[in-house]
Amino acid sequence: MANIVAIVGRPNVGKSTLFNRLIERKQAIMDDEAGVTRDRHYGLSEWTGKHFTVVDTGGYVVGSEDIFEGAIRDQVKIALDEASVILFMVDTKTGMTDLDKDFARILRSTNKPVLVVANKTDNSELQMMYHEFYGLGIEDVFPVSANNGSGTGELLDKVVELLPQSDEENPYEGIPRIAVLGRPNAGKSSFVNLLLGEERNIVTDLAGTTRDSINSHYNAFGQEFILTDTAGIRKRTKVKEKIEFYSVMRSIQALQDSDVCILMIDASRGFESQDMNIVSLAARYKKGLIIMVNKWDLVTKDHKTAERFTKNIQEKLGPLSYVPIVYTSVLNKQRVHKAIETAVGVYNNMTHRIPTSQLNDIMLDEIGAFPPPATKGKYIRIKYITQLPTKTPSFAFFCNLPQYIKDPYRRFIENKLRAHFGFEGVPIQVYFRKK
Ligand code: GDP
Ligand code: GDP
Repeated sequence: MANIVAIVGRPNVGKSTLFNRLIERKQAIMDDEAGVTRDRHYGLSEWTGKHFTVVDTGGYVVGSEDIFEGAIRDQVKIALDEASVILFMVDTKTGMTDLDKDFARILRSTNKPVLVVANKTDNSELQMMYHEFYGLGIEDVFPVSANNGSGTGELLDKVVELLPQSDEENPYEGIPRIAVLGRPNAGKSSFVNLLLGEERNIVTDLAGTTRDSINSHYNAFGQEFILTDTAGIRKRTKVKEKIEFYSVMRSIQALQDSDVCILMIDASRGFESQDMNIVSLAARYKKGLIIMVNKWDLVTKDHKTAERFTKNIQEKLGPLSYVPIVYTSVLNKQRVHKAIETAVGVYNNMTHRIPTSQLNDIMLDEIGAFPPPATKGKYIRIKYITQLPTKTPSFAFFCNLPQYIKDPYRRFIENKLRAHFGFEGVPIQVYFRKK
């Protein structure tokens, strides 16, 4: 179950201010590392070690004064459909308004947890005022100031308490979970149907694990894996296509629930900006990734076509070009097994641990041959390296002056790690720490 926390409320209560406060620290660092531009309306947050995605629904649904009603309905619908916890924001300075009551009426009918966030409770004087929001008929009311941060700790304690506990008791621990994402018409359903068609491959059907996707446990092509299929959903439910939000949320949910993502693209259309969004999301969420260029049968080929295609995609990927690319035709059942094999391979790369002595021998040699450039007349000395005990590969390089290491050197290090230790398709993190 994906951990999505949605912020709803009428305009100007402070939704985007709270949103920025919740995501700022972490997001800035991660985006920096992945070279990813920041989306204004959803982001990763963490509190006491628990991770969740925060969504500012107001950013997706803006209402002018006269279309408020529709805007409320859309915001609330998004929150009810997609979120596990809903933060309903009101403004203590203004007090309770009719629009707040309209929101409350709809929110009271859900069985999802709703917390009233009485924002702009900036000082003790205003602390006397927020109690009126108990009149909204929702049990939990938290006075906060999104501006100065007061009260947000108590709010977040409650939020993480309400989040579904996902990873504990995972009976499929150790089996790669693969999500298939991509633009409409790339061939995702055909791919899943091809796998499903070979019925003997299916071990158990885990339908209903999450409402929005179908997870099936396979044993196919000599590989054991769980496939999360989001393709069918769009076809079953009639979501409003105009809200781009839904496709983003579906991708986020599928990504959160998976280890490796197969991004499927249509060879006859090429690699487009929406595809890059998925690549960025996968990097941001530290998921493994492969690109499956489907409908390869439609392309007129010579012996260099695949090479050219690969080069073209890699240019667009920039620093994320560690992603393997597989050319398939689901229609002709060509290299479909190769795609699965590659995705499982990426999963194995993610769990790969390098012995410390080997890591130090090889990397200190590389660093000796090409040390970090001196900055402000100071020499930077990297003394030793360890792989951190994290879920995806991350490495700490201990040195005297970590603050002087620049991005190009960080990329050099990452490239050398990849060249020596084979992290194809896997996001890796490199930290420089003070010895
Ligand atoms: P949204 O429309 O709900 O996303 O609201 P914004 O986050 O854009 O905030 C609307 C206005 O309220 C801005 O001028 C914010 O600076 C202000 N604001 C947000 N949070 C607080 C707060 O905790 N205290 C005070 N006094 N103002 C706030
Ligand atoms: P989805 O929207 O990503 O689930 O895409 P579908 O699986 O519904 O496929 C869209 C269309 O592409 C259908 O008409 C498929 O028959 C067709 N298609 C899928 N895979 C291939 C392929 O490898 N080659 C060709 N030529 N057509 C394909």
